[in-house]
Amino acid sequence: MKRADMKVYKERLLDLRARLRGDVSSMAASALRQSGTEGSELSSMPIHMAELGSDNFEQEFTLSLMATEEGTLGVIESALQRVEDGTYGTCVKCEGVIPKTRLNAIPHTPMCVKCASSLGENLAG
Ligand SMILES: [Zn+2]
Repeated sequence: MKRADMKVYKERLLDLRARLRGDVSSMAASALRQSGTEGSELSSMPIHMAELGSDNFEQEFTLSLMATEEGTLGVIESALQRVEDGTYGTCVKCEGVIPKTRLNAIPHTPMCVKCASSLGENLAG
């Protein structure tokens, strides 16, 4: 994956981590940005809604987030570390490329769909 692409996912991971930690000031700032009517602020958002993955992925992600917040924090930290290492976007198990549609839905996932499902999608371990 290109560094520029990784940066986009890094932003999302940092945002997720902030939300999990209950960083309300970050959430408030984000809400303020979204309520702006100028439109120029919106274009600076790293990921557009249209680029998000399927509803299925989204639901799966939300459920895993709700079920294991503390475990997910650790997984997000690992993902951020992989961004630093330059290995982000590569499956930790089979070393295959993780599709961007999957990363868009679950930016902290360490595995491709195949490996994750072989482990029962137990991302938070
Ligand atoms: Zn894999």
